Amino acid sequence: MNKPLIMTPGPTYIHQKVRQALSEEITNPDLDQKFYEYYKETCDRFKELLKTKNDVLILDGEGILGLEAACASLIEPDDKVLCIDNGVFGNGFGEFAKMYGGEVTYFNSSYDRSIDVELLKKFLNENNDFKVATLVHCETPSGITNPVDIICPLLKEYGILTVVDSVSAIGGEEVRVDDWEIDIILGGSQKCLSAPPGLTFLSISDEAWTKILNRESPIRSYYANLAIWKDWYEKKWFPYTQPISDIYGLRTALDRVLDEENIILRHKNVSNITRKILMEKGFKLYPSQGYSNTVSTIILPEKTNFKEIYNKMLDEHNILIGGGIGFLKDKVVRIGHMGENCYEDKIRSTIEALNDVFEDLNISL
Ligand SMILES: *Cc1c(COP(=O)(O)O)cnc(C)c1O
Repeated sequence: MNKPLIMTPGPTYIHQKVRQALSEEITNPDLDQKFYEYYKETCDRFKELLKTKNDVLILDGEGILGLEAACASLIEPDDKVLCIDNGVFGNGFGEFAKMYGGEVTYFNSSYDRSIDVELLKKFLNENNDFKVATLVHCETPSGITNPVDIICPLLKEYGILTVVDSVSAIGGEEVRVDDWEIDIILGGSQKCLSAPPGLTFLSISDEAWTKILNRESPIRSYYANLAIWKDWYEKKWFPYTQPISDIYGLRTALDRVLDEENIILRHKNVSNITRKILMEKGFKLYPSQGYSNTVSTIILPEKTNFKEIYNKMLDEHNILIGGGIGFLKDKVVRIGHMGENCYEDKIRSTIEALNDVFEDLNISL
């Protein structure tokens, strides 16, 4: 049977060129000096994508490893951490900060829209004694993009280090790490870059390095320890054997992203079209404002449930769609328009199919 069209918000369709790269003959990544150059070039390509001069690392784990590595390496016991929360991932960041001893304060903003910058300004006016702040660029479960470009410079005015989870945004939303003063930003291979799941990448500012390398207490991890990576290139040394085939795949996917004339504009246009078609057909979107370029979240009418819609989409149309997590569990369906899935024809067939499923079930929207 043909593989389904995966229209979930990650993992996304993998282009044939990327699949070919995954099957290329390998070398010994610890002993072959050329691999150190290849890894470095790949990091340099990421610097182009992220618009930064900061160091970039690729780590052998899914996006969550990038998030955990940022927390494990930056946060020391009793460090005051501000967790900016307007969704499932924003809230979850706080748990990671606590795991590494951070004393977490939440700034809560409405879950159905992007972070309220004016309220955040007021909050920071009175509470700003934080070492680190965490925030999420695109809240994938709700389909909301946050104004990282305004929030990070604002936090830096108070000398707060900024950590941004941009797993579902990088490659689909504009990112300017240096202009926006992002100390650590992290992404994943399986969303807009359309490489297989399993790798994370992050950029680390000089200020973040200073904090990481001058801690009073040791970093309580090896795999999530960024400090062990410092000077890997000068030393020609990796902390562990690199997943060379996955890195070939990621590099090929990244080259495709960078070689496209304007991939962000494609995401912007396709997400506009997605919302337009959905609304024309009477579907209701979850966010009231702050729509993401990379994922659309549609409210499920009460008379049905996710499993029913999911099964019919898969069995009758061979299309895989996403559901809700956290507070949106069983309340929404999600369509990803990320990377290789972000094309009008794929979106049109997905929405047509969804419409058929609803009509078939006699569910009015
Ligand atoms: C996908 C994603 C991650 C990685 O989480 P998984 O559930 O393991 O895929 C992290 N942060 C955000 C915002 C994501 O969209």
